[in-house]
Amino acid sequence: MVGFNTELVFGKGLNQLHDNNTGAVNVPIYQSSTYAFDDIDADNKYDYSRSLNPTREYLEKQIAVLEKAKHGYAFASGSAAIHAVFTLFVPGDHIVVSKNIYGGTFRLINDYLKHLQIEFTQVDTQNLEEVEAAIQPNTKAIYFEPIDNPFMKVTSIRAVSAIAKKHGVLTIVDNTFLTPYLQRPLALGADVVIHSATKYLGGHSDVIAGLVVTNHDDIGEKLYFSQNAVGGILSPENCILVIRGIKTLSVRLDRHIQNAQTVLKYLDQKEDFIKKIYYPGRAGDASDQVAQEELKGYGGVISFELKDNVDPKKLVNSTQLIWLAVSLGSVESLIELPYYMTHAELPLAERQKVGIGPNLVRLSVGLEDPEDLIADLEQAVATATK
Ligand SMILES: *Cc1c(COP(=O)(O)O)cnc(C)c1O
Repeated sequence: MVGFNTELVFGKGLNQLHDNNTGAVNVPIYQSSTYAFDDIDADNKYDYSRSLNPTREYLEKQIAVLEKAKHGYAFASGSAAIHAVFTLFVPGDHIVVSKNIYGGTFRLINDYLKHLQIEFTQVDTQNLEEVEAAIQPNTKAIYFEPIDNPFMKVTSIRAVSAIAKKHGVLTIVDNTFLTPYLQRPLALGADVVIHSATKYLGGHSDVIAGLVVTNHDDIGEKLYFSQNAVGGILSPENCILVIRGIKTLSVRLDRHIQNAQTVLKYLDQKEDFIKKIYYPGRAGDASDQVAQEELKGYGGVISFELKDNVDPKKLVNSTQLIWLAVSLGSVESLIELPYYMTHAELPLAERQKVGIGPNLVRLSVGLEDPEDLIADLEQAVATATK
């Protein structure tokens, strides 16, 4: 038994993949599409890199170790990973899905999966009665993000998966915002965990990647089939970027969280222009207790609503250190307006229904000196004050 930080750096049983004679401490980038057979009848483990590549295999084992999962799979993007998970379902199946999900997932469901006759009901997953009431005879899964975006409200994996188990349906979570450092969904009852490794796992805004883990052999087989048959694999070069990012995950997240606390303290004092702050544990309802019980830490993403005296577009146009950009979980701080950027995929009526207005700002707090981030926000607010 080794600790989580040792697992991040060293893996566990991963060193067997360092199959080189050089002593290199990193797994090589196996830049090879194909693998030679010694004999026509040989039973090669590796034969073609879409099916299996040793660099990708390292990353897939690495995420499985960290999630304490039996099976891990790496995809070309978080979106490809989500699509692969949805290939578990067939026409006529029904899935209960959270109201507040990633915009790209919303698009995949509404503009693609619904055309394949897969049915969905969107519910507030914090409302357990609503979740249970949405289950139908043909329901196969409940799908949600344990921290919703952009309002950062926490859904209980334990409670939702208990409902799922009672009805014999799967619990699928997209845990991009938390990573296995802050929460291990399988231990709380989830069946499948998805990550956009583009965010905290990669951590440096230099790679698009997706990961999936599960403990179920049958689901693992189907995911592998989808990975190999559809072919949305992560390239070996990109696998290395995620492998490297993961090694510093806990160090980075500790500092993301610490910096977020400093920025929150600043925002808390700014009632002159802040209407409301959204961060896990601060919802002021039962979900705060869930956050305390099921999360080890709350991450580095903060959303806040501006009062009418500040022009939100001017604010995000005026930051000098904080990049005006979508995405999150990277070493550099990123700011954006969900209404115009990350959540523009949602039709206006949908944005209004979930409460995403033009004055909502999302900030992914990076690893800069927090005093510099605060000074940047301060000058941007001053420029944007009407
Ligand atoms: C970014 C993101 C995705 C999509 O991942 P890509 O790597 O961009 O395809 C899915 N879910 C969540 C919660 C995300 O933040």
